[in-house]
Amino acid sequence: MIIAKKKEDLSHLLAFWRSRNQQIAFVPTMGALHQGHLRLLAEARASGARTVVSIFVNPTQFNDPGDYANYPVRIENDILLLEAAGADLLFLPDKTELYPGGTRQLEYYELGYLESILEGQYRPGHFQGVCQVMRRLLESVRPDFLFMGSKDYQQCLVVKKLLDLLSLPVEFFRVETVREPDGLAMSSRNLRLNQDQRGRALYIFRTLQFLRQELTPGPLEPLLEKGRALLEREGFRVDYLALAEAESLRPLTHWDGNRPLIALAAAYLGEVRLIDNLQMNR
Ligand code: AMP
Repeated sequence: MIIAKKKEDLSHLLAFWRSRNQQIAFVPTMGALHQGHLRLLAEARASGARTVVSIFVNPTQFNDPGDYANYPVRIENDILLLEAAGADLLFLPDKTELYPGGTRQLEYYELGYLESILEGQYRPGHFQGVCQVMRRLLESVRPDFLFMGSKDYQQCLVVKKLLDLLSLPVEFFRVETVREPDGLAMSSRNLRLNQDQRGRALYIFRTLQFLRQELTPGPLEPLLEKGRALLEREGFRVDYLALAEAESLRPLTHWDGNRPLIALAAAYLGEVRLIDNLQMNR
């Protein structure tokens, strides 16, 4: 695996591959890699394209400075994992490489309602930061294919919107969430859970499964109330537990029994904020 820290080195390698008619598949990450990230890479490799993985902990998408300061960094281990998993290239820029003019007064993206619901509501500015870094990464890599995870479902919608806004001809692939044996969605932030919290963390998935089992046509709020109570009983501080239209993510208060629904949750255990989601019906 080749490691490029500079955009210039990256672009030489990419130009070489393109000159041989090879396509580029891109997997952006913030590192502290786990099997979820490696699933994205496996799917990217299965496309037959050359694979580029980036690791960059993007400061502009953290609305909570404590979360940024405590974000796990395990670069040596990440490099070993990527090499063993067959990545062709690791793009490992530093802050000045991606934000040469600093991170103040950056551009703004018109994301519409996506920015004010769910993650957008509880993490103001987060999706602007996601778009700011994704634009820079996409301009550096110029991929044919982009692989991102369902675990960050709203982020997938935001990045698809960004591709539209920038008119970038990139094919987007959303990859299913990889879970621990007990159902907890794999996440770099799980490393920050203590033993007791790790034991409780699986209740986020259990609650989503509970919603799927109990869902019936009609008003949704009574069921969501029960779900929130389940989480609170296990010691979670709930940001949101919501049922939304799967395609648009618009939250729903009433279900007609047909419309594809997705349940989404974000909740804290101590200082650690976990998110997850589950399709309710296909
Ligand atoms: P992150 O490093 O958390 O920014 O994640 C990088 C990419 O990996 C994003 O597209 C995530 O949605 C995806 N991802 C994170 N966790 C998982 C998981 N458990 N299963 C599948 N994809 C994941």
